Amino acid sequence: MVGENSQDAGLSAKNEMERVMKSTLDRIHMEINDRFFRLNEMDLKFGFLLNVEELCCGHNTDDAIIKSAARKITSTAALQVILGIPPLHLQLQREARGTALFRLRLPLSTNRGVDAAFCVLSDVNITHRWSTRLSLRNTVFQAEILALLKAVEHAVSLPTQQLTILVDNQASINSAANPKSHNSIARKIFKLLHSHPHIRVSWIKAHVGYIGNEEADRLAKEAAETENFPETPLELPKSFIKTFLRQKMMATWQMAWDDGDTGRLIHNIIPKVSLHPINWTCNEVLFFTGHGPFPSFLHRFNLAETSFCSCGGIGTPIHYATVCLLTTSYHIAQPSQQHQPIWFRRVANNSTSRRKIHNLLHFLQRETSLFRPDPN
Ligand SMILES: [Zn+2]
Repeated sequence: MVGENSQDAGLSAKNEMERVMKSTLDRIHMEINDRFFRLNEMDLKFGFLLNVEELCCGHNTDDAIIKSAARKITSTAALQVILGIPPLHLQLQREARGTALFRLRLPLSTNRGVDAAFCVLSDVNITHRWSTRLSLRNTVFQAEILALLKAVEHAVSLPTQQLTILVDNQASINSAANPKSHNSIARKIFKLLHSHPHIRVSWIKAHVGYIGNEEADRLAKEAAETENFPETPLELPKSFIKTFLRQKMMATWQMAWDDGDTGRLIHNIIPKVSLHPINWTCNEVLFFTGHGPFPSFLHRFNLAETSFCSCGGIGTPIHYATVCLLTTSYHIAQPSQQHQPIWFRRVANNSTSRRKIHNLLHFLQRETSLFRPDPN
């Protein structure tokens, strides 16, 4: 039951569900706000690519038509990669999963976990044994500190007498000695030890043959090797869940980008998705997507009568950047046919080439009529 798992005692399952729903909606709302904020920021930079207003009631100039066309057919997948914005459905999925894990305390599915154990030694006899398994995604530290807590709790339940808990993990001792530790289990241990001064904790070297230590190791190993050994549900570290969900989202996005049918020119240049926008100018986007003032592109969408440049060649982006007689001052060395994909990658990664591309596009846009074949 959800309510039973709730940390806040006294909340019914219904109340808890309502709270979780509200928290999910709040997060989605925040995510959407953030997304629009970033889109607006990008709008300033890329303008036409995202300017829906102009698309709907664009002015009837050639320029606006070209830009609207570019906006219409530049694939969403490519834009997302260029802008560093994951698809909205993946972002919402991540939020929903995060909420489920944080608030409903649903477990992540696991294979085999980390193990924790302690035993009680009086003289040379072992009088009590405890071991458990945590989820695979719990850390070794979480296992160590949980075992220490269980040992302290057990010690508290024993008749009052001087006793020492020997621990082979220095980090959990340090953590338990810090009343301001970020780890809630460590703080619990600190409180217990503080109110039970007859219990001492000290460090012991591991794997050197101490009977109790060897036995605890054996118990942990047994828990590890037993099939279906019951797991102790322990809250996963928040940082882990956040990283885990982000990685999962990025992997899904990467798969969709690799397997997609659209935006393949951009995929060639930017094969890896990232949360950082690509630092391209408007003109560079026009060139690399091929969705700019190029006869080859305009002709495809009936915005030009022919795909030929006035020099006689086919007016593709690479034509203007390498061979066109009208753009010689912007030229970059021409690649062979089979090396074109590599050429685009190199140009995109070279600041000098990119500056040339930027200026070339500026020139093409300014002198549109120069590149249109004389209809007569
Ligand atoms: Zn030409």
